[in-house]
Amino acid sequence: MTTKIDITLSETKKEKPNVDQLEFGRVFTDHMFVMDYSATKGWYDPRIVPYGPISLSPSTMAFHYGQTVFEGLKAYRTKDDKVLLFRPNKNIERLNLSNDRLCIPQIDEELVIEALKQLVSIDKEWIPTAEGTSLYIRPFIIPTEYYLGVAPSKHYRFMIILSPVGSYYKEGIHPVKIFVENEYVRAVAGGTGTAKTGGNYASSLKAQDEAEKRGYSQVLWLDGLEKKYVEEVGSMNVFFKINGEVVTPALNGSILEGVTRNSIIHLLKHWGVPVSERRLSMEDLYKAYKEGQLEEAFGTGTAAVISPIGELFYNEERMVINNGETGDISMKLYDTLTGIQTGALEDIFNWVV
Ligand code: PMP
Repeated sequence: MTTKIDITLSETKKEKPNVDQLEFGRVFTDHMFVMDYSATKGWYDPRIVPYGPISLSPSTMAFHYGQTVFEGLKAYRTKDDKVLLFRPNKNIERLNLSNDRLCIPQIDEELVIEALKQLVSIDKEWIPTAEGTSLYIRPFIIPTEYYLGVAPSKHYRFMIILSPVGSYYKEGIHPVKIFVENEYVRAVAGGTGTAKTGGNYASSLKAQDEAEKRGYSQVLWLDGLEKKYVEEVGSMNVFFKINGEVVTPALNGSILEGVTRNSIIHLLKHWGVPVSERRLSMEDLYKAYKEGQLEEAFGTGTAAVISPIGELFYNEERMVINNGETGDISMKLYDTLTGIQTGALEDIFNWVV
């Protein structure tokens, strides 16, 4: 069954920004998708309307206990003016996993894919075309019941907003310095780490802020229990090339399963590069480094795709990886994934919609 999406077009069109000066997440397109939920009606009234503020009572649950979920994916415009989405079904599946963890009712994945397609094509002119640029898509759900009790909300609003983004690597892909975080933790097994929910990001700010003050761009998160095992880097998954094998922490109940992570594992296997998902201690990583076997390190996520790591600061020691330069596997993965995403390379896995 397909539900009809009601469309109200904006009477005025905003001026499009200069992509060279675009800061991530500051500018939004002319339209947004909205749908509401009530316990009696289920999800109802899916609609595309002009982008604009929404009005909510101060007692709205969204302002109090963080029962929120969100997603992030990108649309690209090809040279022949087609619009491509990269594995959008993976993001919508993950949104439902997050919903489950946060006691938010499931959404109809087909309807949301349809909403994405319609919204993005209505605001197609907003998708920048210069190399490395894209349209960032932010689906999210907030609880909209007016109530201060700590309980799952009985009403929700689902929205999708769109934001043109400039190139993440204006000066070319470059490695970053990472602080190995040994005080704060991001998530623990049994907590909400596997869900994309606001609180995970709120609780990460302090560590990020302190790392930045020390001159590092992000933190490497260790497990929440023993602070021994590597989990993620900033808001990205993390990979290491150790003695020819690419290793990423196994999904353990506190790591967010990235769509980029999943795609990279597929690509590496396809290329015949040894890749394993396993528990990796910081101690073993350090040992590999000391023995000259830590060949590359990189973060993976929708925003940067691949973010090479040039240095880890661990136990008051600087671990410089691959002379602080971008490694071959990192570069090849970046070129291949962005090539598939933008339609420049053959989509061998049928990832692009
Ligand atoms: N981990 C966290 C905590 C994240 O927020 C993200 C970004 N969604 C990722 C990993 C990478 O996920 P993806 O590849 O789907 O962007």
